[in-house]
Amino acid sequence: MSRSLPRSALAEPSPSALRAHMEAALAKGLVAAGRGQTTALIPDLRAVPPEKFGFSVALLTGEQISVGDTRERFSLQSITKLFSLVALLQRDPDAWDEVGWEPTSHSFRSLTELEERGGKPRNPFVNAGALVVTDRLKTLAGDGFLPTLQLIQQQSGNAKIRSVPSVARAEFAHAHVNTAIAHLLANVGRIQNPIPQLLRNYFRQCAIEASTDDTARAALFLAQKDQHQVVLSFEDRRRVNAVLLTAGMYNAAGDIAYRVGMPVKSGIGGGIVGVLPGVGTVCVWSPPLDETGNSAGGLVALEEFSRLARWSIF
Ligand code: GLN
Repeated sequence: MSRSLPRSALAEPSPSALRAHMEAALAKGLVAAGRGQTTALIPDLRAVPPEKFGFSVALLTGEQISVGDTRERFSLQSITKLFSLVALLQRDPDAWDEVGWEPTSHSFRSLTELEERGGKPRNPFVNAGALVVTDRLKTLAGDGFLPTLQLIQQQSGNAKIRSVPSVARAEFAHAHVNTAIAHLLANVGRIQNPIPQLLRNYFRQCAIEASTDDTARAALFLAQKDQHQVVLSFEDRRRVNAVLLTAGMYNAAGDIAYRVGMPVKSGIGGGIVGVLPGVGTVCVWSPPLDETGNSAGGLVALEEFSRLARWSIF
C-alpha cells in the first residue's frame, strides 16, 4: 500500500470494519428485496422464502466474514457459468474463440441476438455461450457437469456441495427457450453432443447448491494477482474478470459497473458473487429478483458495501 494515498482511496481490508459495513449494507438490501420477486422460470425456486439474506466476504489472507444466512444453501444457477468457463479454460485455453467475450444489450435467454449473430454466442455468461461451454466440457472431459461441480467443491473446500435433482428436473420440464437456443446453436454446427444430454448436463450444473460462505471461497482464486496461478493462467484470470465486469450481469452489466465497480456474476437463485482483485471476494444472496433477473436486494447491498468499504476496482 502506498503511504501517499489518502486512506479513503483504499479498499477496506480490516475484518471488523468490513463486518460493520456488511451489516449496514444488508439492512439496506433487505428493504430493496421487498421490491423484487423470486424467479418464475423454475417452479422449485419460486417458493424460497424471500426474506433470506446471506452476505459473506472471503479475504486472500484466509479470513472469512459472514453476516446473515451465510450457511444456507441456495441454487447457484448462472453463477455456475463462471465455474464451467474456468473448468473449460483449464482444458482448452482457446475456448474463448467459440464463446465470445462481448457485452450484450439483450436478456440472458435471447434468441434474437443469437439469430442476428449467425448463431455465435455473445459471451460465456448468456445461456447460448454457457451451453457451448457445457457442450465442450462434455466432449473434452466425458461429462459436461462433473468438472464444474468438482471445481466448486475443491475451491470452496466443501466436498458436500451437490446438485439438487428436483430443481434440475423442474427446469428440464420447462426448457422451451433453452432447447430453442441449443437447436439454433446446433443448426450452425456449434453443438457436438446430443441436445437432450447437453441440456440435462446444463440443468444439473445450474442446480448446484452452495452457501454464500462456500461461494465466496470458491471464487477466491479470481482475486489472486500473482503470476503463478494454480487454477487458471494469469492471462485467463484477467480475461475472466474483464468479461465478468462487462457481461457478468447480462444486459445490466453497465449499470453494475457504474454502481458497484467490481467483476460480478449473478444467478436467478438470487446470488451474486464479486471479485476485488488483490483483496478478496464477496457473495450475497437474496432471492427476490429485479426485471433483469438479478437479485434486487443483493445488488443494493453490494452497491452500499462497495461504497462504504471502498471495494471497487476504480
Ligand atoms: N438455469 C437458468 C437458465 O438457464 C439460469 C439462468 C440464470 O441464473 N440467469 O435459464
